[in-house]
Amino acid sequence: MAKCCRCGKRFNVSDAREEYNAEFGGDIDYDDEYGHEVCADCAIADTESNINIGKAIDMMNGDEDYDDDHVKRWL
Ligand SMILES: [Zn+2]
Repeated sequence: MAKCCRCGKRFNVSDAREEYNAEFGGDIDYDDEYGHEVCADCAIADTESNINIGKAIDMMNGDEDYDDDHVKRWL
């Protein structure tokens, strides 16, 4: 068992990898991004917030349809 460096929960790395891949379809590599230090819950929450922040930045740059609520929430 590994211990999550964010929430302190003990977790099983292969279960966390599976859960993470189920969420993001293997687009992002759990091992590369979070190694054996972050549980699935924290890794998924972190990736979702990164994706949303990236999207908000794209909206500011005009690369995505602008959504005021999204930008206010994430930037
Ligand atoms: Zn955690």
